[in-house]
Amino acid sequence: MAITAAVSAGADDPLTLRQLRLRAPRPDEVLVRVLASGICHTDLTTRAAVPAELPIVLGHEGAGVVEAVGAQVTGVAIGDLVLLTYQSCGTCAECRRGFPGYCAQWAVLNAGRFGADSPLTGESGPVVGAYFGQSSFASHVLATARNLVVVDPGVDPVLVAAFGCAVQTGAGVVAEVLAPGPDSVLAVFGVGGVGMSAVMAARALGVGTVVAVDLSPQRLALAAELGADLTIAAGAGDAAAHIAELGGATHALDTTGAAPVIATALQSLTARGTLALVGLGPSPLPIDVAALIGRGKTLRGSIEGDVDPQVFLPRLIDWHRRGLLPMERVVRSYPIDRINEAIADMASGAVVKAVVTFP
Ligand SMILES: [Zn+2]
Ligand SMILES: [Zn+2]
Repeated sequence: MAITAAVSAGADDPLTLRQLRLRAPRPDEVLVRVLASGICHTDLTTRAAVPAELPIVLGHEGAGVVEAVGAQVTGVAIGDLVLLTYQSCGTCAECRRGFPGYCAQWAVLNAGRFGADSPLTGESGPVVGAYFGQSSFASHVLATARNLVVVDPGVDPVLVAAFGCAVQTGAGVVAEVLAPGPDSVLAVFGVGGVGMSAVMAARALGVGTVVAVDLSPQRLALAAELGADLTIAAGAGDAAAHIAELGGATHALDTTGAAPVIATALQSLTARGTLALVGLGPSPLPIDVAALIGRGKTLRGSIEGDVDPQVFLPRLIDWHRRGLLPMERVVRSYPIDRINEAIADMASGAVVKAVVTFP
């Protein structure tokens, strides 16, 4: 079928809306008409890494309506509102243990497919598709039952589209990995889409003290309204010293991937505190081993918050319905023909979560 998609062809060129062909769904696939798609920083890092001769349709926070269901698919019906998330195999050891984020086939299933493996073709040849099992900067995508979750048709797809990556990462790492309690101090470094979700989740979970650290005064002001007890403007003083005045952070989260920020986050931990990393940055990372050992600190990485989307996304929808994830304060929507403006606003920090919409 003919679809419309925002095609990326090199880091320096704007995305262009093009007509592409999407092949028919296979027996294990579902055809989804996309209503909204969040823009995640991973889209931008992939865009920067993919050479211009490999045009790609990015996007991995889709929300839409099911238009066709393959014969082998159960639990999904035409007309269902679905959220799209990353893809996983369902059969490897980590998938069977309930940690599909650590699927043995992660890279193969999420990096995008090219040539005969891609579900997309363009006028001038193949286009990389199935990025994160979706490529949701498009009017229509193919997904499977493993990377979609059927949700209540009453929710606004624009507000919940980002649940499938940024929000489950930020909320999941707080709820499932760090698990701070009412006596804990949680410091969140970087309050973009992921960090702001962590702040909202921490408030929903009754975490004792939540600290937000960021460069942007606007994002810090919003973090304060959404649940941060203390905000610290990074660069305007020693964030670790401010956090030390609270007795140190029992738990910290880095969403930036920036080595100096990670060093500050580690430094801000109290004895036996844990820092979780969810932002990809340049490695290797210099680590103060003596401080790590001497203070019994834990450094932990996490992908997608360690959560199983089939279990965690319904929980997030429930929080959202109860007002605990006020995404209307976080999301700004842009029609798909303004996707380059949305990307620029994301990159500059002018918007916490940009979501593109399809007519
Ligand atoms: Zn993402
Ligand atoms: Zn797997």
